[in-house]
Amino acid sequence: SYRENKSDALKNISKKSNEQKSAPNKKTEYEIQQDTVISSGEEPVTENLSDNKTNDNKNEAYTELIIEQNAVDIKYIGEAFSTYIIAEKNGKEILFIDKHAAHERMIYEKLKAEKAGAFSQLLLQPVTVTLGKEEYDAAINNLNMFSECSFEVDDFGNSTVIVRSAPQYIDASEIPDCIAEMADYIAKGKNDIFTEKMEWFYHNVACRSAVKAGNKSTPQELIELVKKLEENPQIKYCPHGRPVCIVMKKSEIERQFGRV
Ligand SMILES: [Zn+2]
Repeated sequence: SYRENKSDALKNISKKSNEQKSAPNKKTEYEIQQDTVISSGEEPVTENLSDNKTNDNKNEAYTELIIEQNAVDIKYIGEAFSTYIIAEKNGKEILFIDKHAAHERMIYEKLKAEKAGAFSQLLLQPVTVTLGKEEYDAAINNLNMFSECSFEVDDFGNSTVIVRSAPQYIDASEIPDCIAEMADYIAKGKNDIFTEKMEWFYHNVACRSAVKAGNKSTPQELIELVKKLEENPQIKYCPHGRPVCIVMKKSEIERQFGRV
């Protein structure tokens, strides 16, 4: 039957996601909220959705997941090209979401809203970054710019700065390049006004912190991303102006198949 075929297809998707899990995943801050429900009598899996080590059975349930919120039903279908989340909305539309653009925009909004550094996280291992002379001078004369962007940076002498805390979204391995780019930007953009410089900082940090196109993601990360996007309908573009989501209407698909 159609129903069985559909289940088989979903199992294949599940297997794929499970294989992807064997690769080391970037740690995520996400937790699925408890109002997430499962359709059609699958066992509830909400409790363990934030657990990275999930079994086949649970993965299968992800594909049946529906997010019910403000009368919006979202069914997670999968991911294409390790970049685009595919989800069904209200039984009427298919959403294609650029996971990097969506994540980047959300982090950008948070960084911008939390200038005091509420998203700053103390690094277990402080990171030192050695800079060129000009970049070093620019950095140590503008430490406030880093702190406005949730980085705690101090002068470490010898053309080196030390990073003691960083925005919680950013992977530690990204910090040296991020700080070097920011220092380079300040060194080159002396005439820009402060708020414009900060905009650039937020963009840059958000881009480096966001899940990358082509990288492996877990279904639960992606489901959470779709959910966050639905909670923030004003988010339509990434900070660089690219669309976050493309909508394909069911009626349009049916028209192309000659059903209507
Ligand atoms: Zn980006």
